[in-house]
Amino acid sequence: MKDKNHGVVVAPGAGFCPGVKKAIDCVLHLEAAGKKPIYTIGPLIHNKQVTDMLAEKGITSIDELSQAKDKSGVLVIRAHGITPEFQAEVQSQGMEVVDSTCPLVKKVHNVIDEYAKQGYYTVIVGDGGHAEVIGLLGYTRGKGYVIANAEEAEKLPHFDKVNIVSQTTQKEETFFKAAEAVKAKADICQINNTICQPTKQRQKETLELAKNADLVIVVGGKHSANTARLAKLCGELCPKVIHVESEEEIRKEDVLSPSNIFITAGASTPNWVIDNVASRVKNYRKEASSFSGMLGRIWDFIVKSSIFTALAAACLTYVCMKLSGARNDLKLYLLSAFFVFTLTFANKTPQDMPSKIKKRFLTPVILGGLIAFIISLNYGAGVWLPTLVFLILGAAAYPFRSRISFLSRLPGTKDIITALGWCFVCVYVPAASQGLLMSKSAWLAFSYGLLLVFIRSVILSIGAENKDIMLGKESFYKAFGINATKTAISLIIAALTAVLIQLLIMGWKSGIVFMLLLGQIYTIIIAVYFYSRKTPRTTASETFIDGQFFVLALLTYLAVRF
Ligand code: SF4
Repeated sequence: MKDKNHGVVVAPGAGFCPGVKKAIDCVLHLEAAGKKPIYTIGPLIHNKQVTDMLAEKGITSIDELSQAKDKSGVLVIRAHGITPEFQAEVQSQGMEVVDSTCPLVKKVHNVIDEYAKQGYYTVIVGDGGHAEVIGLLGYTRGKGYVIANAEEAEKLPHFDKVNIVSQTTQKEETFFKAAEAVKAKADICQINNTICQPTKQRQKETLELAKNADLVIVVGGKHSANTARLAKLCGELCPKVIHVESEEEIRKEDVLSPSNIFITAGASTPNWVIDNVASRVKNYRKEASSFSGMLGRIWDFIVKSSIFTALAAACLTYVCMKLSGARNDLKLYLLSAFFVFTLTFANKTPQDMPSKIKKRFLTPVILGGLIAFIISLNYGAGVWLPTLVFLILGAAAYPFRSRISFLSRLPGTKDIITALGWCFVCVYVPAASQGLLMSKSAWLAFSYGLLLVFIRSVILSIGAENKDIMLGKESFYKAFGINATKTAISLIIAALTAVLIQLLIMGWKSGIVFMLLLGQIYTIIIAVYFYSRKTPRTTASETFIDGQFFVLALLTYLAVRF
């Protein structure tokens, strides 16, 4: 993902690995289901922002089982896994136990166990003190050794049969060199490269991108072994490497002169931290460049602050008002813009953000919601009451969303609620305020808007999936997977197109319908783009996706005008 203007490349695979993500999802779901207290055996990951966020939710890390005082709580085994002996001890506590060991670590347990049963010694190439390695040693039946590299193989005895495995986050070159050194000391040697696929992928992209960079920025906890290893690997490929935990550590003078900057991150770094670092670097470089850089920054702000989405909602309101036959009313456009701004901005706050950062989002959310509510008072209780309910459910309840467990378990609810929210304000409110609620035109406009916004929300949530927003099953994409999502979007677009063609044939508002049919081309282009790649939630893709409402409003205006 190269930003051509600013020479900044963010590693495509940076961020939580699947094992870490699964463990965090697991504790968040337990917490949402009301399980309390939740004890994780050791920190889930070495990242201060995430551990702070978990601590705020009452999910605490313990070093000893005796620290789990409340026996009605849940003990969670983290992604690194533990030894079979410790597992038995955990099970004997009489507490609920949830095993969140990464399946790829379990695979290594099985490989070690299989050979240990046949009398093989095990040599693990990894960090002796690391929790995963301690867990792996537990499967060697007392015949295990740990070495960090080929040099340490010198200390090993001669083996009749040896099985060599690696810590899942090991550097490949180190593993193979060490394995060769051990092989020279054994009669029978089995080499099992157990470095996990996500790590291999991360190392591969690091090798490719770091060697072409003038500066590498590694984002991640200073105590994270895999981030430190990543920084070391980058140091061998690039003359300058900076290891930071957050954007606060980025110094302007470091990022202005390098032509190419590569940003990567350890497996325990949340994507929003990586995004913040990338934005800070790009902003410094933009500031130092030109007028166009300043314009880019302004546009970035307009999109990221949800102002663009708010204006898109006003555009959809215009289209739907023309479809339903409602009269122009500036207050209705303002209402939909402030209403959608409030819901979108509130829901842009990643759940894994510590609350002190979340608080910065509160003022615009409260202000936007208040303005929307005040405008809604113009239209009677049939409008202001549901406006208030939507605002409370959609925005005010947001900080407690993980506690509304029934919502996170209903597949697709996020996208359906988003579409209903938009249509409430873009179609229902104008129709209700002008006595058009029972008209067929209003219902047609409602269905049209609902399906369009549903498509928008589903496509955006695919980008958000990469961003560690712990959506559970509430997003359609997360609940049903990529193939079902593609099928659903194709069917919705086909149905919308068929309905518009039918209306055109019937001669119903043919000017507007013809233009909306033209507008379908834009929606199809968005879908094709989304089929060909996962849509990242960036300024460009949000501009592209929400831009459809501006295009539809322009086409509708042309139809009405001429
Ligand atoms: S680094 Fe690999 S093995 Fe370890 S938790 Fe992540 S995905 Fe699993």
